[in-house]
Amino acid sequence: MNDLVHRTRRFVRDVVLPSEPRPGGYLSDAERGRLQEAAKEHGVFAPHVPKEYGGAGLTIADWSPVFQEAGYSPIGPAALNCMAPDEGNMYLLENVATDAQKERFLRPLAEGRVRSCFAMTEPHPGAGSDPDALTTTATRVDGGWRIDGTKRFISGAEGAAFAIVMARTDDTGATMLLVDTANPGFRVGGQVHAIDRAIAGGHPYVHFDGCVVADDAVLGAVGEGFRYAQVRLGPARLTHCMRWLGLARRALDIALDRVEHRRIFGSAMKDLGLAQDLVARSVIDIETSDAIITKTANALATDPRAGSALSSVAKVHCSEAVFAVIDRAMQLCGGDGLSDALPLASFMNEVRPFRVYDGSTETHKWAIARRASRARAKAVASGTERRQDEVVEP
Ligand SMILES: Cc1cc2nc3c(=O)[nH]c(=O)nc-3n(C[C@H](O)[C@H](O)[C@H](O)COP(=O)(O)OP(=O)(O)OC[C@H]3O[C@@H](n4cnc5c(N)ncnc54)[C@H](O)[C@@H]3O)c2cc1C
Repeated sequence: MNDLVHRTRRFVRDVVLPSEPRPGGYLSDAERGRLQEAAKEHGVFAPHVPKEYGGAGLTIADWSPVFQEAGYSPIGPAALNCMAPDEGNMYLLENVATDAQKERFLRPLAEGRVRSCFAMTEPHPGAGSDPDALTTTATRVDGGWRIDGTKRFISGAEGAAFAIVMARTDDTGATMLLVDTANPGFRVGGQVHAIDRAIAGGHPYVHFDGCVVADDAVLGAVGEGFRYAQVRLGPARLTHCMRWLGLARRALDIALDRVEHRRIFGSAMKDLGLAQDLVARSVIDIETSDAIITKTANALATDPRAGSALSSVAKVHCSEAVFAVIDRAMQLCGGDGLSDALPLASFMNEVRPFRVYDGSTETHKWAIARRASRARAKAVASGTERRQDEVVEP
């Protein structure tokens, strides 16, 4: 494990950083392919993928240090094939797909031969923060299903080989279906120009117009879509925390190098108290993020339900923390931090959307508070705890 972390660090420093596009630029599919071949040669490719599918076979409890090293560059995860949305889709396929589906969809994805996308969000008033608002439907037809609906913000859809689609299959339930993008009923629509650049294929609209798939396109069981979404989302939001924490470390390194060398008002910036405050708060944000990620990853490995609940806490904390670290680094670097002279402003564009996707900060805080209230009320009702708020007249 430590050896893999070390090799990933060297690979990212020596091969990936020199290949980064200019701030604001995209990684082309050709360049991504070249970097993935290099990652294979360096033995750092697909750390999270089971060995039988060509990866290093690490379990989730061991992903964080490697993903953080990959995330030191915005394109590092793509080079290692552990970027969103493919990494989350690999995890879902590994845990839910049939053997035949794994051969057809997981193997080429794990080997980096194709890309994929995950299609959940819809134009208003459809699914967004509230998945219950899902409007895309999958209707039974002879020998399969017909999917109708529109999705948007579907990362990686342009150029993807397949999509995992969430569709309503009856009044209460949803089902996940695997759709080949060559299907005549699948169409990539207008591109949504979000502020980030690192995910290949953008975040376009996707249309399902009478998109017919066979029965074997159902991922797992009919009606279990919302449950599988949680299977995917708990780990997927945590791996985002891991990768973006790596980028926050890079931002802090840039800031540390700057305060070391920049002199103002007769002293090195590193000796000015207000600058030290910015640095110290970033170190604290990084360490607390690292700790909550480790705790959550261990929980996901041993008790997925508890881990999934904790992943909300980790997601809120880390998404705010990495944003703050990058923001402080920009502040410490002055005008350079706000221009494309340094990559910090582009890092900010990469991490800002993380406060909205995979459940917004507000959605998670709402869920965290409700969960806390429920757990406390249950403990008091069952008699294992006594109310602590009762007062008596002195
Ligand atoms: C860069 C990027 C990539 C994305 N990739 C994908 C993808 O690959 N696949 C996919 O399916 N979707 C993707 N999304 C969509 C993303 O998941 C949604 O944008 C997100 O779920 C929010 O939905 P919405 O945009 O409809 O906002 P809304 O649902 O309208 O929410 C708007 C705001 O409401 C607030 N809010 C939410 N819940 C509460 C609450 N309980 N109490 C008070 N306020 C609340 C929050 O501030 C939230 O930001 C992506 C989005 C972005 C920006």
